[in-house]
Amino acid sequence: MTATTPPCQRPVADATTPFWRTELHKLDTFRSTEEPPQECDVVVIGSGYAGVSTAYHILENNDFPPSIVMLEAREACSGASARNGGHVKPDVYYNILKYTKKYGAEAAASFARFEAANVLAVKQLVEKEGIDCDFVMTRAVDAYLDAEHAKATEDSYKELVRIGVADLGDVQLVHGEKAEKASGFITGIKDTKCCFSFTAAHLWPYKLVMGLLSKLVDKGINLQTHTPVTAISEQRDSEGRWTVTTNRGSIRAKKLILATNGYTAAISPQFHEKIVPVRGICSRIVAPDAAKVSRLTSSCSIRYGKGIYDYMIPRLDGSIVIGGAKPRFWHDLNHWYGVTDDSKLIEPAKDYFDGLMQRHFNGWEESGAYTDMVWTGIMGWTTDFMPYVGEVPNKPGQLIIAGFSGHGMPLICLASKAMAEIVKGSTFEDTKLPFIFKPTMERLLSTENDILGK
Ligand SMILES: Cc1cc2nc3c(=O)[nH]c(=O)nc-3n(C[C@H](O)[C@H](O)[C@H](O)COP(=O)(O)OP(=O)(O)OC[C@H]3O[C@@H](n4cnc5c(N)ncnc54)[C@H](O)[C@@H]3O)c2cc1C
Repeated sequence: MTATTPPCQRPVADATTPFWRTELHKLDTFRSTEEPPQECDVVVIGSGYAGVSTAYHILENNDFPPSIVMLEAREACSGASARNGGHVKPDVYYNILKYTKKYGAEAAASFARFEAANVLAVKQLVEKEGIDCDFVMTRAVDAYLDAEHAKATEDSYKELVRIGVADLGDVQLVHGEKAEKASGFITGIKDTKCCFSFTAAHLWPYKLVMGLLSKLVDKGINLQTHTPVTAISEQRDSEGRWTVTTNRGSIRAKKLILATNGYTAAISPQFHEKIVPVRGICSRIVAPDAAKVSRLTSSCSIRYGKGIYDYMIPRLDGSIVIGGAKPRFWHDLNHWYGVTDDSKLIEPAKDYFDGLMQRHFNGWEESGAYTDMVWTGIMGWTTDFMPYVGEVPNKPGQLIIAGFSGHGMPLICLASKAMAEIVKGSTFEDTKLPFIFKPTMERLLSTENDILGK
């Protein structure tokens, strides 16, 4: 694929409504004060999972009580964190051989360990804070439908086992005739050639983020929704403060945290073609017979071929969240690459989810399952598929936690904890972050683009 990346835009108004935003929290359009403060210690730009969880960890032990202002362009948690599948699914095997070849065995292993550890960290966080967000620990199943892709993945997995890079103790491979039954455990996915399963979780992401945010507001952070940042200063002023300009005045802050996901390059141009906005589409399916959904005991991804898959999360309320739809639109970059408009559906994919359960699941042909809602959202994909977590090179006091490449749910909890340590004075190397997450000049200057394969 060849393409130029369009200039990045800020979040648009009138975004499509995701299922997760059908029960709005009382802080959804909250402003702590009539006018934003003019100064603070730390300004966080973005109120998604990354921004909120970072602020949560900064204030967690009350040992570093800075004044924090959180600026949000739209409603609180109205970006990708309220538009995803709610799937906390770690990458414990799929890309690990690729990362071993690119970054070395230790980096690949530490990445896989970090992802797996996040599932338990989210569970502990939800329990510790008592957040009601439909959290469920589960097995995630990757079902492979294409024989060639299944074989290539099995070969990679066997190579991983042979070289002993990652801890694969939690990964179960089922192939041959058993795979179709095992792929859904009870309700099988048709034509499955092989499948892998491993520990994962799912939850209501908006409720998790808003649960954390309400604790932050109780602790005194100043939240300003509908306050888009339009610019940040090139350098710090003589007092060592960054100036952040919004549509409602300017704020000077000692530390500035970019938690702006796919929109980052709109206010920090050095991330142009480093963090690319990528539009995705997701849906909620309802089955008239809710008991049918309860027999789907795991979440799963239906893998049609390399990089082309749907993900499916059966929910406690008898509905199923399904996202992906790439077979319909991925061939045309105009639908997704560099796109920040989540006010529209992806035209060729808008009816893709109709009949998906009937097409792929044994015993669902006459289920009457129907599409209840469809929405879009903007991810931040990095051109090397690794997030940026840490200090921005040559910008002391300016930090970034963004670019989770459509895969933030099994990364952000512990990444933001490490980010909070950096805000409090630790170096990147003091934290447990995989070194490949570090924002470096080398990454910023690289012209490689793994999204487009060039
Ligand atoms: C359709 C879809 C499905 C997905 N499914 C999954 C999944 O199942 N599992 C998974 O792991 N990940 C999934 N993801 C990715 C996941 O949602 C993200 O990795 C994660 O939510 C990123 O969190 P964030 O806080 O970085 O970004 P966001 O939640 O996007 O937060 C960024 C915030 O910054 C605000 N902002 C941006 N620019 C400005 C500005 N200039 N001024 C003020 N505010 C600004 C935005 O309005 C937004 O609220 C999916 C994403 C999408 C879109």
